[in-house]
Amino acid sequence: MGVHRVRVLLAAGVHGLQRKSGNPPVGGAFSGRRHVPIVPHERSSPHAPPWLTLDTSTSTSEGTVGMTENVSAAPTSLHKTEKVRLAVYHGFARTGRAPSVPELAAHTGLAPDHVRQELHTLHARHDVVLDSQDSDRVVMAHPFASVPLGFSVMGSHTLWWGGCAWDSFALPHLLRNEPDVLVATRCPACDTPHAWVVGREAPPKGDQVAHFLTPMHRAWDDIMHTCANQRLFCSTDCVDSWLQQTGQERGYVMDLTTLWRFAGDWYTGRLDPGHTRRDPSSATAYFAQVGLHGSFWGLPE
Ligand SMILES: [Zn+2]
Ligand SMILES: [Zn+2]
Repeated sequence: MGVHRVRVLLAAGVHGLQRKSGNPPVGGAFSGRRHVPIVPHERSSPHAPPWLTLDTSTSTSEGTVGMTENVSAAPTSLHKTEKVRLAVYHGFARTGRAPSVPELAAHTGLAPDHVRQELHTLHARHDVVLDSQDSDRVVMAHPFASVPLGFSVMGSHTLWWGGCAWDSFALPHLLRNEPDVLVATRCPACDTPHAWVVGREAPPKGDQVAHFLTPMHRAWDDIMHTCANQRLFCSTDCVDSWLQQTGQERGYVMDLTTLWRFAGDWYTGRLDPGHTRRDPSSATAYFAQVGLHGSFWGLPE
């Protein structure tokens, strides 16, 4: 009951405030209601957010730097699954790699086997992807990845595997401490190297194109294969020659501006407590809003 109630408030807070970058939310619209800090998303501090490690019996603290009132609402109420999800996401954001089970246990205060259980729950929900050979290993927490899928993303102090084209272009939107990042890849058809400085203000320049192979309704059939085949090419000619080389059918091609717009808000809120993934109908609405079309996205041609 309590958990449910707080999750609803969290959702309201997240949707209400997270998109206002630059201005940490204050009482204002939510004054008088118990709400949790939205600020961690904005600051992405190099340290674990306090609510990840606070013990419920001691969570009476208030006035933590950068937090709004009622900081204790989050630590006392965060479900264990959500604590583990946040620890995974913040570990990736901070270090560029996936936290291990012992690290997750240390951050959340849960026993290692309990962490494993929660990771399996998160995997089943598509909040993380576990290695099929070693389920202690998180290989993806979109847009983060711990395995190479064709892209690197370099920040000012941290290096990430970029996941796919979509994920690589999404990272600067999520990593508020990085005004922009260097995204690098090679054209799958001709091996030409490509790199772009990708920020939040405007799409990068370039006439390269993104090609997505797997239609969205089948994306989770094999998510590793799906992400590994969302790549950037020199041109549509390179897309066509790669499809011919590999004997595959054309998926969907978009330009860099569309990819950047598409990546922009898709993962917003993943570093915040209480985040839930989009349901299919709001996902489809988002695809339409950023300019995608056709059955590949579940939309009209
Ligand atoms: Zn090429
Ligand atoms: Zn991806």
